[in-house]
Amino acid sequence: VGHEIAGRLVDGTPVVVEPVTPCGQRCAFCDGGDYNLCPTSVRQVLGIGADGGMAEYVAADAAGIVPLPGIGDGLGDASLVEPLAVCAHGLRLADAGAGGSRVLVIGGGALGLCAAAAARHLGLDVAVQARHEAQRVAAGRIGASEPDDGRYDLVVDAAGSPEALAEAARRARRGGTVLLLANYWGTDIVLPGGSVMFKELRILTGIMYGRGPGGRDIETAAAVLEANPEVARAIVTHRFPLDAAAEAFEAAARRAEGAIKVILVPAAS
Ligand SMILES: [Zn+2]
Repeated sequence: VGHEIAGRLVDGTPVVVEPVTPCGQRCAFCDGGDYNLCPTSVRQVLGIGADGGMAEYVAADAAGIVPLPGIGDGLGDASLVEPLAVCAHGLRLADAGAGGSRVLVIGGGALGLCAAAAARHLGLDVAVQARHEAQRVAAGRIGASEPDDGRYDLVVDAAGSPEALAEAARRARRGGTVLLLANYWGTDIVLPGGSVMFKELRILTGIMYGRGPGGRDIETAAAVLEANPEVARAIVTHRFPLDAAAEAFEAAARRAEGAIKVILVPAAS
């Protein structure tokens, strides 16, 4: 396990590890930048199909190393680059901003706040609908507002429930887009037929990240983190040493008490 991995090169440069890389075979997906869709990708994703970063050592492809010279001492925060890359990828697929600048994110957990930060980085007007007070405070710190009664050009589902999808479809404007970034593995995606049909909503999904005309999504994600240090400060609420992993998982389960993103920081970093 462990697919959000950060570390340092021997020269001290902070880096993140992109856990999926192009397969290197003759492959239309990888050649086109969609290496997340490569038939080999699930097997080779570090921390999912292959051994990951919750360990003393992990073997990673050199092509997946992304330097973060602007990160400085906040190396643990670099593990946010991975969920930010998921969001940057989804926003790229949704052509966020092209259909209007009003974005609503449903869900105030780490994924939702990363989506908000990535959309703010694009200069969009972002609101976050969050369940817990600590999440609302964090959203404010990264430049998002509370939702208003208006409709939104793009609604991002970062909550992953039928209720969230119903709310997303209701909040989207006619002809708007609903982007599903939450995890629906092993479950059904249930959408309200009426608003999806009559508002002619575009329903989009995103999985992992790849490379677009502007570069790799993970590089965009690193840029989000480097451009605004407040993003990591607002989202990473708890830090634990590697040998306190059990305690870290307990803290992560206590959302109502203010946990958003809990990270493990090995002593060596
Ligand atoms: Zn491939």
